[in-house]
Amino acid sequence: MSEPTSLRHPTAAAVLSRSQIERIIKATKDRFDEQVEFLQQLVRAASLRGNEARVQNIVSNALVNRGYEVRSFTIDPTRIGEDPAFSPTTFELRNSTIVIGSKHSPREGGRSLALNAHVDVVPVGRRARWKYDPFSATLEGDWLYGRGAGDMKAGLAANLFALDALSAAGFDLTGAVQFQSVIEEETTGNGAAMVLAEGFRADVVLIPEPTDEKVVSANTGVMKFAITVQGVPAHPFEVAAGRSALDIAIRTIEHLRRLEQEWIAERPFDQPDFAGVDNPIALTIGTISGGEWLASVPSECRFEGRIGFYPGETPEARAASFERFLREVFQNDPLLKGCPEPEIEWVGVKQGGFVLTPGSEAEALLATAHTLADSSGRELQRFVMPCYLDAAVFALHGDMTSLVYGPIAENIHAVDERVSLSSLMRITKAIALFAAAWCGVEARPEQV
Ligand SMILES: [Zn+2]
Repeated sequence: MSEPTSLRHPTAAAVLSRSQIERIIKATKDRFDEQVEFLQQLVRAASLRGNEARVQNIVSNALVNRGYEVRSFTIDPTRIGEDPAFSPTTFELRNSTIVIGSKHSPREGGRSLALNAHVDVVPVGRRARWKYDPFSATLEGDWLYGRGAGDMKAGLAANLFALDALSAAGFDLTGAVQFQSVIEEETTGNGAAMVLAEGFRADVVLIPEPTDEKVVSANTGVMKFAITVQGVPAHPFEVAAGRSALDIAIRTIEHLRRLEQEWIAERPFDQPDFAGVDNPIALTIGTISGGEWLASVPSECRFEGRIGFYPGETPEARAASFERFLREVFQNDPLLKGCPEPEIEWVGVKQGGFVLTPGSEAEALLATAHTLADSSGRELQRFVMPCYLDAAVFALHGDMTSLVYGPIAENIHAVDERVSLSSLMRITKAIALFAAAWCGVEARPEQV
């Protein structure tokens, strides 16, 4: 075990005075009802892929009204394949923009901070299975329900209202701050990649994904693929002459399950954080379609999925070993021998994993901000998130310390997604205190 980071770095409690902390916490509480209403508006904007314009309009107006310098821009598709921060895509986003609000410090010298969140949400599945309409943003007790409520519009609202609280408490940050509202986190990560491509950098980025109030110590690399296999079509009366593409696909998936076990078993010694994670690789087959006619032996089948890998390796190297594995399977498995080689396409995120190096001052300040945001004296815990996170783009391609820390949410990407409001308030306080401690604050002249 390494020495707790808080012992080696100044704590937020040491950087900020007791009265500053109290004013910031009070200002966060005072605006919380407004924050929840804003979050409801965000959820109701139903920002499925390709439909992010409405929610980005809400965000952009909110930033303009607060005096941010606002820029919005689209993803430049010509960068895909040229710039390693970008991942392949099959979808052209014409009307969806990234929105960034910037505030420059009145005084140079403080450290800069980016607060990032994504607004894209995943499909809801069958609406009838939801307790409330997934875009109604219904409140019930401590919970706000809705697709995107937890992942991660609550985080976006926390970013905005944390900065509001500082301002309402009478403070200016003495470092520059960027408020980033991005798209495409759920499929490619190209929203975050475009933020870097446009030249936005900061000394640290904080992303309040729904992490149950823990900080992400590492994530996995992720690759998204589509595999098409060919069979031999035939009429049922001469079924032996055919080879079912559906059977070939199922057999191929069985082999991929073996590959998944091999990749899990790598368990690199320099990644102790992954020791407690049963399946960080998480091969997921998400879609499958095939066949042409219910009474014909199917000639083609396509399935799409994702697979993870431990941090420390490039997606190019992993993709090459994945492709090699499938080639060998088709050469050696008697049940697949003679079938045309499968066609492998990379259709979304193709990104390495990142590790939050222990011992950073940013993490130490977040840890103390986390403790100050609640009266229970709890300590910030680290955990591994074995999935893609935009933080990886900022860490690996922007060389930025990337903190992923957000509220308690349940059923993200599932039915009845919901976020805890009491947790959201604690997170908002913690972000405000972290921003103040990281960038530094000074009282606005009229407050002195
Ligand atoms: Zn998310």
